[in-house]
Amino acid sequence: MSSPEKNMKRRGVMLILSSPSGAGKSTLAEGLLKGETELSMSVSVTTRQPREGERHGVDYYFVDKDEFLRMQKAGELLEWAEVFGNFYGTPHEPVERALASGQDILFDVDWQGAAQLLKNCTDDLCRVFILPPSAEALEQRLKGRGKDKPEVVAHRMAQASREISHWNEYDHVIINDDLELALSQLRAILSAERTRRERNLSLPLFVNELLSRL
Ligand code: ADP
Ligand code: 5GP
Repeated sequence: MSSPEKNMKRRGVMLILSSPSGAGKSTLAEGLLKGETELSMSVSVTTRQPREGERHGVDYYFVDKDEFLRMQKAGELLEWAEVFGNFYGTPHEPVERALASGQDILFDVDWQGAAQLLKNCTDDLCRVFILPPSAEALEQRLKGRGKDKPEVVAHRMAQASREISHWNEYDHVIINDDLELALSQLRAILSAERTRRERNLSLPLFVNELLSRL
């Protein structure tokens, strides 16, 4: 007999990660994506310049301001925000397609994006805020990443308190000190979200069938 789990149809989870820049969202996202076949990353559009090594269509869709504003006007973005002087937004269509086919999607968006997603996609969301273990660690990580100029690092440090002030708008909060521990906490959150009753569309039928045989 085939396992009932395999035949269950479920709607995907929108797993939102937010944090001050440098707290470790991208690192945690990368770790979580490894070995998770039912999870993919939402690729945002941005007007920011690519950092060394970043690839168009993989890390971001890098577009100019006119194209960004066109997408925004045409309703192609599920949410958008201006962060550090650049525009960032989430294309709508790939998200809906993934969720409907039972694929989970991971989002790296700031608090403004998370708030808009809460409005537009309430039942699909699980929001996780990542905190650094200390201010010193945050600064060291931003510098250590070595991909931003000193003035960009200083600007991101100055903006950190603003982002952190939204920590209590999230469902879960992880302090990213020990990376492996933080990653295991994130995996546990995703795992629990997948068994949420409302996401599991085949459950009513399954339970009816079960009851009918008792
Ligand atoms: P974000 O995506 O939040 O801006 P990153 O994932 O790019 O942050 O992390 C910033 C830097 O901190 C990177 O160099 C990364 O390797 C490092 N880092 C991330 N998590 C940890 C951790 N738990 N301990 C030490 N360094 C970390
Ligand atoms: P970075 O330039 O370091 O890649 O990202 C800067 C900030 O923009 C981060 O806080 C990140 O979460 C946020 N960001 C990235 N993509 C999006 C998006 O599509 N929407 C919103 N609202 N924020 C985003």
